[in-house]
Order: sequence, then structure tokens, then C-alpha cells
Amino acid sequence: MFIMSKKVYKGEEIEVYFDAEKCIHSGVCVKGMPEVFDLKKRPWVNTAGAPADKIAAHIDTCPSGALTYKLKTSENKTDKE
Ligand code: SF4
Repeated sequence: MFIMSKKVYKGEEIEVYFDAEKCIHSGVCVKGMPEVFDLKKRPWVNTAGAPADKIAAHIDTCPSGALTYKLKTSENKTDKE
């Protein structure tokens, strides 16, 4: 069986990954940063809605690990994945 529940949302400075199978629907993402995570919108992740480092920090609070990210590093951004 193939699992097709992973999505990628590509932004200029960050790529956000969402694994629906892991999501426990805590709402932490949408409540804490509605300008980026809005279930009423498609796509529901707006990678341009906040600075990439703020989005990354907020994703770190996702309790299930459903949301992950990769910062698109430039020369001066080497301390984060
Ligand atoms: S914070 Fe994580 S677990 Fe909670 S709703 Fe968002 S993606 Fe799902």
C-alpha cells in the first residue's frame, strides 16, 4: 500500500512538509500562526505569510511531528536545517 499523505509547500525561503498521517489535530499550527496555517485556504500553508525563521520556530511547536520544514539556506544561514 502506498501512503500519499505527505505534502510539500514550497516557499522562497522555506519548504514546509506536512504528514497528514501524523497530525493529531491539536490546532497548534493554525491557532498560533493563522497568517501561515489556515485550513480555509488552499493551499492551507502560506509560506509567504511570515518570515521563514518564524515559521520554522512555530513548526517546532507542532506536538506530533506532522509539520516539518527545511530552510533554504543562503550563505549566511548555516545554523538551521
Ligand atoms: S500543530 Fe501539528 S499536530 Fe497540531 S494540527 Fe498542526 S500539524 Fe497537526
